[in-house]
Amino acid sequence: MRLCSSQDFELVERCIAKGMGFIAMKSLAGGLITRSDVAMAFLEDYPDVLPIWGVQKESELDEWLSYMDNTPVLTDEMRAYIESEKKALAGDFCRGCGYCLATCPMGIAINNCARMSLMLRRAPSASWLNDHWQEEMKKIETCIGCGQCTAHCPYELDTPNLLKKNYEDYKKVLAGEVKVD
Ligand code: SF4
Ligand code: SF4
Repeated sequence: MRLCSSQDFELVERCIAKGMGFIAMKSLAGGLITRSDVAMAFLEDYPDVLPIWGVQKESELDEWLSYMDNTPVLTDEMRAYIESEKKALAGDFCRGCGYCLATCPMGIAINNCARMSLMLRRAPSASWLNDHWQEEMKKIETCIGCGQCTAHCPYELDTPNLLKKNYEDYKKVLAGEVKVD
């Protein structure tokens, strides 16, 4: 399932019209989309789009292979789920593409730090709360607001503020003021 904007759909249609392939990178949003069955069913409606799913565990590979024989079909429940996911992962959602990374003079790991709140809630949180990521998140304090990240963001995000927002949430989670799984 891609959380597509109208521009995404338009691009797909233009590629089809030109006989050009379309590869959908990060079809599970780098792990933020947690229902592979829905993602698979959604993309079945777009046979001209070739998704790259990304697999970390053998069990995930088995899951995808099972879909070759038993391909999920979109249900009303799935459609409702997609709509709720669109709301959750739209707007100031950092896609983690990393196009801004090299531009940051302070070496902030923007592609993960700017979506940390989502990672904490959609992936196992412990690994994002370890010493390494605490140090990476702390680097947000060094942001000089140069705006280079925003200038290179294809999604036109207000990246410095997004980082600050994620950092505030992160500190609350660390302090136990906000609970995550
Ligand atoms: S605004 Fe902050 S995060 Fe963005 S490039 Fe500059 S220092 Fe890095
Ligand atoms: S802030 Fe923009 S350019 Fe940087 S990783 Fe996120 S989506 Fe990509």
